[in-house]
Amino acid sequence: MTQNQNNNSRLIVISGPSGVGKSTICKQIVEKTGAWLSVSATTRLIGEGELDGREYIFLTREKFDARLKNGEFLEHAEVFGNLYGTPWPEVKQALDRNRIVLLEIDVQGALAAKKIYTDAVLIFILPPRHGDLKERIENRGRGEDDATANKRLGHASNETAQARQHYDHMVTNDKLDHAVEEIIQIINAKTGE
Ligand code: ADP
Ligand code: 5GP
Repeated sequence: MTQNQNNNSRLIVISGPSGVGKSTICKQIVEKTGAWLSVSATTRLIGEGELDGREYIFLTREKFDARLKNGEFLEHAEVFGNLYGTPWPEVKQALDRNRIVLLEIDVQGALAAKKIYTDAVLIFILPPRHGDLKERIENRGRGEDDATANKRLGHASNETAQARQHYDHMVTNDKLDHAVEEIIQIINAKTGE
């Protein structure tokens, strides 16, 4: 097998509206391909059922700012009033080890990452119907209020429009297995595995 020397093509970015199924999809891709999923840092409060270091590295604003100043993020963005950032040392190490690296980040962050890693593959996940998002956000059981859920829904249309312009692939998450398979095929085509 020829080794793909171009590490840039191993950076796979998954974005999509809240509740569309990004975490569920990423988890399955990790299980099925051995890809390495980056754990982002965030200043948002830890939600029900979440663990520090698993879903996110939960930081105070001060700690986040200190890491940012230190150049420790590949990209960072403010989403719904909280900061999110991709830890650069860990991502670099995984790419150096020739791992397929998955980032689950928002559209602003994805476009920033693509400026640095021009061969990064940007994949946007769409819901089969817009109305499905509300139901999925509620089913997630993070205990959010209606206002927060509605804010997330409003943001979705904006991000989708941007993604249609700039992303490499749009994948509809209707049947979970199909969406996962479609993304694995995109990854394989890009990395030559
Ligand atoms: P995100 O990470 O995009 O916010 P999650 O992965 O947390 O979304 O998924 C939100 C909810 O939708 C979860 O309850 C998940 O089990 C469910 N879900 C994910 N994919 C599907 C699908 N294809 N069909 C129905 N429900 C789904
Ligand atoms: P949530 O708080 O619902 O898990 O995530 C909110 C949004 O932040 C999602 O769109 C998610 O993709 C995005 N996000 C998570 N981590 C990062 C990150 O490291 N960088 C950027 N730019 N966005 C992120």
